[in-house]
Amino acid sequence: MKLFDWQQALWQQLLADSEKLPHALLLAGPEGLGKLAFAHALAARLLCEEATKEVGGMACGKCSSCIWLVSGNHPDFRLIQPEEGEEAGGAEESGESVPIQASARKPGQGHIRVDQIRALEDFVFVGSHRQGKRVALISPAELMNPAGANALLKILEEPPAGVYFILVSSHWRRLLPTVLSRCRSVVFGRPDPVSAERWLVEQGVSAAAELLQLAGGAPLVAADWAEQGRLDGYRKVIEALAEKPVDPVAMAAKWATLLKAEQGFTLPQLVEAVQKWVLDLAMIKIAGCCRYHEAWRVMLERLAAKASASALMACYNDLLRIRAVARHPLNTQLFLEDMAARYLRALATGR
Ligand SMILES: [Zn+2]
Repeated sequence: MKLFDWQQALWQQLLADSEKLPHALLLAGPEGLGKLAFAHALAARLLCEEATKEVGGMACGKCSSCIWLVSGNHPDFRLIQPEEGEEAGGAEESGESVPIQASARKPGQGHIRVDQIRALEDFVFVGSHRQGKRVALISPAELMNPAGANALLKILEEPPAGVYFILVSSHWRRLLPTVLSRCRSVVFGRPDPVSAERWLVEQGVSAAAELLQLAGGAPLVAADWAEQGRLDGYRKVIEALAEKPVDPVAMAAKWATLLKAEQGFTLPQLVEAVQKWVLDLAMIKIAGCCRYHEAWRVMLERLAAKASASALMACYNDLLRIRAVARHPLNTQLFLEDMAARYLRALATGR
């Protein structure tokens, strides 16, 4: 198991004294930084029978524990994830009143059920198969339902020695405060762009710098987008947004064509792309900097000059809200026209 370059410092820091690792860790931070890979490496290190005593060393990769872990059969390791096919529930069908928590989930992500957590009780309290450590990895931890979180709390109250819980979450503010307070948080920041870009280039990603910025600095998201061929679609979305304002119907028609033509470019992704663009317009207007579209700065400045900051922020919030229904719009055409109208109105608000 390898760490990403940008995780080395955090690893060294965390394992400076591996005997003093807390029994419950929360690996928190934005998506796409490799938190889950880090968690696996940490689990391997804890379970490894030949782990080097050297500070910050990794699992050996050769002992029987390491081999079991790789083959997915380690008796002292549990990975708790939402089970496949388990959908988050029908709430998103009900329109704009969708609660944020249900709507913000990715397609296909369900809950971690309470019985999955309860099954850990035996694992934790019955004892290790190998008289050693035991590790339970829960990811994404925010997908535990409240009953599951409460069941976990009970276990975390008095965990036996040698048991480690590693929770991974990109949306850790959704965790119960009582769960948060029982974990030591390890917060992952975005890597410095140079090492992230170098890694992307090593993976054979072209236009790495541009993708990395569009992905908000998260290298694994950028790599994912490269694999899906999303950059072309993304560029077209931006070109349409950066054009001289047209009417909403024409703009919506362009988007509709794009959604049909670009493989892997979905409506929620389109809304997200527009949302990031509007955020950058507002940031240019307010602070003179932008987060995702440095390469389009000139266009951003030109458009932002015509809009008011408050209208841009209101538009951004609108987009956040409509993103919730973008997975199941009643009428895609109307949805697109509505989004285009909101965007163009915000642009025409004057100084
Ligand atoms: Zn080993």
